[in-house]
Amino acid sequence: MQPEGRRSGARERGATGVDIDYPPQAQAFRAEVAAFLDEHLPEGWPGIGALDEDAAWAFARAWRATLAQHGYLALTWPVEYGGRGLTKLHQVVLMEELARAGVPYGLPQDTFGLKMLANTLLRWGTEEQKRRFLPRILSGEDVWCQGYSEPDAGSDLVSLRTRAVRDGDSWVINGQKIWTSGAQHCDWIFVLARTAPQAPPHRGISFLLVPLRQPGIEVRPFRMLTGRDHFNEVFFTDARTDADLVVGEVNDGWQVANTLLGYERGEEAATNPILFRAELDRLVDLARHYSRDTDPVIRQRIAWCWSKVEIMRYLGYRILTGWLNGAAPGPETSIAKLFWSEYHQQVTALAMDIMGMDGQVLSGRQPLRTYRTDDPGAANTSGSWTITYLTALSGTIYAGTSEIQRNILAERVLGLPREPRRAQ
Ligand SMILES: Cc1cc2nc3c(=O)[nH]c(=O)nc-3n(C[C@H](O)[C@H](O)[C@H](O)COP(=O)(O)OP(=O)(O)OC[C@H]3O[C@@H](n4cnc5c(N)ncnc54)[C@H](O)[C@@H]3O)c2cc1C
Repeated sequence: MQPEGRRSGARERGATGVDIDYPPQAQAFRAEVAAFLDEHLPEGWPGIGALDEDAAWAFARAWRATLAQHGYLALTWPVEYGGRGLTKLHQVVLMEELARAGVPYGLPQDTFGLKMLANTLLRWGTEEQKRRFLPRILSGEDVWCQGYSEPDAGSDLVSLRTRAVRDGDSWVINGQKIWTSGAQHCDWIFVLARTAPQAPPHRGISFLLVPLRQPGIEVRPFRMLTGRDHFNEVFFTDARTDADLVVGEVNDGWQVANTLLGYERGEEAATNPILFRAELDRLVDLARHYSRDTDPVIRQRIAWCWSKVEIMRYLGYRILTGWLNGAAPGPETSIAKLFWSEYHQQVTALAMDIMGMDGQVLSGRQPLRTYRTDDPGAANTSGSWTITYLTALSGTIYAGTSEIQRNILAERVLGLPREPRRAQ
């Protein structure tokens, strides 16, 4: 890949071309990360998936602290906010090496604080907001969740109806959010709220930082298909937050909201193929275990999966090349989202078919992660595959449904007529 500071003599490529060579500074950093992993992981470390649930959580918390202490959690943040001021390329290399070693980058809820909100604050936050919130996100003192979706505003997010009204030094918030991942474990929520009801829909929304633990907020967890309480409904009844906790301009939160969504993706283009490949290797072992590896139909389906993982690998390189060259994320991210989420439903359904009736009885440890593959090192059990199969069903919904991705591709890549839009 060709990031900022291209190698002399390297072939010039467009922002969306593919270059699978890493430049020397990436290889030097890769060696640094490898030495760090060697020093901090036990000899013969099999991956966090090999630990039982309690041990895995304990490891994940301790590992997060180790990464923070050695400056790996905020590589790209400026030094004055606790980061190392490195580039996206370094971040990609780090994520690749962590995925290969079978260790997490942070705790599951870090997606919202560390990855989405912190980067958004660096782009849009006031100096005071950065100084107040970034160190606490980094240390894990403040855990964040995302208050975007509402019962009647998911794909059509701009229809959101939660309102915030200024009252002296506060905003007073009323309304409801839904599908709020992990809210029951969080301290803060970033909320999109309508602050100018008469303005056109995109122009009357503000991005607010709201403390979750207060009398005006009720968090109601609800149970998922897997039997776990991951999601929540969050009700706001005269909830309050300080007047200066708006990110960006008042009524201009739509722009901030979209910046944040851009951080939802990114380096996953590098890590997805690594994790999917490790998962596929486990699937081949599973087929052997059930003596299905000689079944021609199963073999055909495994070969199909293999070809898809290879395509994802090259698609990942293509996205990364553009990303590292500073190109704004284009429609190719929709291709990747569509591709991996639909692939993952197929590969996990194949695991269910291989296990047959065994898949109906959960045995062994269940995955810690709610998204994507089980962790590297996980045993090939029905507990692992069945829960992964069930969670894969949500992959075509979150971060933009498959239908929405297809609309984007139809309109922006194929140039088909736009579907009717509401007036702005
Ligand atoms: C695992 C998971 C975690 C989530 N975590 C969070 C979170 O932490 N915070 C948060 O705010 N939200 C979260 N969400 C919510 C998620 O963003 C929404 O579910 C998603 O945006 C879809 O919105 P919706 O569920 O309201 O479905 P809808 O938008 O109502 O869609 C229903 C169906 O209609 C289709 N559809 C809608 N519009 C169109 C169109 N224009 N053309 C064609 N088809 C269309 C959709 O594709 C879908 O099949 C999470 C969702 C999941 C599954």
